[in-house]
Amino acid sequence: MLAARMKTPGKPFVVEDIDVPKIGPNEVLVEIKAAGICGTDVHYRKGEFLPSRLPLTLGHEGAGVVKEVGENVTNVKVGDRVVVHYVISCGHCKYCMRGYDNRCLNRLSIGHDVDGVFAEYIKIPAANAVKMGDNVPFEWGAITACAVSTAYHAVNVSRLEKGDTVAVFGVGGVGIHAVLWAKFFGAGKVIAIDLVDEKLEAAREYGADVLINPGKEDALKAIQRETDNLGVDVAIECSGSSKAMELAIKAIKGKNMFSSGTLVSVGLQTKPFQCEYWGFREGWLTVSGDHTRYELYQILKLLENGKVNLSKSITHKISLHEINEGIELVESGKEYVQRIVIDMTKH
Ligand SMILES: [Zn+2]
Ligand SMILES: [Zn+2]
Repeated sequence: MLAARMKTPGKPFVVEDIDVPKIGPNEVLVEIKAAGICGTDVHYRKGEFLPSRLPLTLGHEGAGVVKEVGENVTNVKVGDRVVVHYVISCGHCKYCMRGYDNRCLNRLSIGHDVDGVFAEYIKIPAANAVKMGDNVPFEWGAITACAVSTAYHAVNVSRLEKGDTVAVFGVGGVGIHAVLWAKFFGAGKVIAIDLVDEKLEAAREYGADVLINPGKEDALKAIQRETDNLGVDVAIECSGSSKAMELAIKAIKGKNMFSSGTLVSVGLQTKPFQCEYWGFREGWLTVSGDHTRYELYQILKLLENGKVNLSKSITHKISLHEINEGIELVESGKEYVQRIVIDMTKH
């Protein structure tokens, strides 16, 4: 089978022919149909952080069809359409018992610790195969495994209440879905902030009421104007830029020192940022990481029932052979990109 393997940090992935993995009694073999390229894969490719072992097949956003099941597997059968949940958890530690498999003490991550979805086949524990409806396109399933679900989790931990004003900083692959979920869960006003106008326009289609391009206007002033100087109730930072983080901190503070909202940091902050103590009085700062398996299940139900539409989320479809070009495209910022999906049926 073909797989895109990371062999040397900072070098392009190598697309090569390797053996189809053999499954154990509690595992399933999934034929990948679609796989999304995540910002994290760009960091890996640059060598900014590394998988726990090399060489490794990367990729943690994938969907496909069950091809084989181990003798103990009961939750899926051959032919089922599934999304690959990338968090492998033990099921018995303190956090697993509380339903937070994303915080599992014995956690392994697909595409980081074990071979990922940038391949024609993947073997996974049966519990990581989450069924999706026949009417959900594979490419939607693929991006649900990370971009859509990361945003869902962020909104879940934001303490959003109906009617709240929400600002989303950076409306790329993850942020655009934070706009979608904020609106879905009852935000009264959603403000999208991004330097790229096309991304803002896409965010409008997902429910953003106000679009702010900080390259063209003073974003903080615009936010204060839009909130009658009260600040936003919820700010979700998805860009990973320290400047955006500092702006988001200011955005949750109102005109007096007591009015503060919730700031959810989602984008990976690789540089230090500054915050003033008084900016958070009565406020809340939280860092949102991976979603749980149950959140993935919930989103797939919403997709199956036609409650949300992801038709604006994917801007590019490529073959597995074009993966390095795809990653370079995300990195370069030269072109308007939301999510790039690898169509495994494309050669
Ligand atoms: Zn991801
Ligand atoms: Zn656990």
